[in-house]
Amino acid sequence: MLNSIINLSKELIKIPSISPLDLGCQEILAQKLKKIGFIIENIKINRTSNLWAYKGHGKTLTFVGHTDVVPAGNIKKWKIHPFQPIVINDYLFGRGSADMKGSISAMICATENFLKKYNFHKGRISFLLTSDEESRACDGTKKIVQILKKRKEKINYCLVGEPTSNKILGDCIKNGRRGSLSAVITIYGIQGHIAYPNLAENPIHKSIVFIKKLINLELDRGNDYFKPSCLQIFFISSGKLNITNMIPDSIKIGLNIRYTPEIKKKNIVLKIEEMLKKNSLKNKISWFFSGDPFLTSSGKLLQVTKSSIQKILKISPYLSTSGGTSDGRFFPLLKSEIIELGPVNKTIHKINECVKVQDLYLLSKIYENILKKLFL
Ligand SMILES: [Zn+2]
Repeated sequence: MLNSIINLSKELIKIPSISPLDLGCQEILAQKLKKIGFIIENIKINRTSNLWAYKGHGKTLTFVGHTDVVPAGNIKKWKIHPFQPIVINDYLFGRGSADMKGSISAMICATENFLKKYNFHKGRISFLLTSDEESRACDGTKKIVQILKKRKEKINYCLVGEPTSNKILGDCIKNGRRGSLSAVITIYGIQGHIAYPNLAENPIHKSIVFIKKLINLELDRGNDYFKPSCLQIFFISSGKLNITNMIPDSIKIGLNIRYTPEIKKKNIVLKIEEMLKKNSLKNKISWFFSGDPFLTSSGKLLQVTKSSIQKILKISPYLSTSGGTSDGRFFPLLKSEIIELGPVNKTIHKINECVKVQDLYLLSKIYENILKKLFL
């Protein structure tokens, strides 16, 4: 089993599927799934490839993953070629080894093994794989979940293979993620000669009080699972560095809010728009929404994931909602129970990305055990 996981991982890593391109990874996986009785559906949306595959009937577990990777960065800094995977000292090196071609291979091999032993299981096993998770995430899981919703498909359990482990495999399960909302605010002043400020209105000066209020804005206090919502400014721009005698006519401020289920997106919008009004700032604001928060505080999938980790690894995982967004955010639409479990995330998106060979094997054992606990 170990060999088949590593061979499949290598086969996938060899394909430089920089997001949103798949370049044939999903075809390799589809062939494997077809062989064990899965019904395959390829759904291409613009440049994004998506694979929806299923087998069985009844309550559904969906393995969720992405075949795209982030670029390699400076290839000269890698100790191996990022797309020529190799095992060195029990670590498999290559772009995507940890995020997340390794866990996809572990999922496939877990399913093959499970079906070899228990072909007459209860329930339905399915896979939803996309190739745009690392880029805009607009033509992938998001759209497929909408299609499934229209077809009245049900996904009871959604298991995302993102690299959630921190120090050692299985130490951390993600049972939720914060929502993410961005805004670009333009605050207008009146352009003029810098020596005659009385004839102009300096938008930089005017917005400083507002920016301070933004930084100190308390949106909520979090809860047992989430730290308080957090606002960060990521961009400020006004004027021109080489024009020293002009008061500019506007300032642009970019901000992002990572928010908890304790506050609604529309209330964040209201709060910030009210602040602009109160400070009498003439403005234009554009909002960019990338995902609502989700939380699985209890349920069967959470319970069997925890007990499978305990059984295979002899450790008790802790629950976390930290980190960026993931494709898990799209499944609340199908009212699924969402859990994320994958390899150690220490080297993801970095030079020399790698994963412990043994971890992929153990991860596959955990996935298989989850299948057993749900469907036997
Ligand atoms: Zn990932």
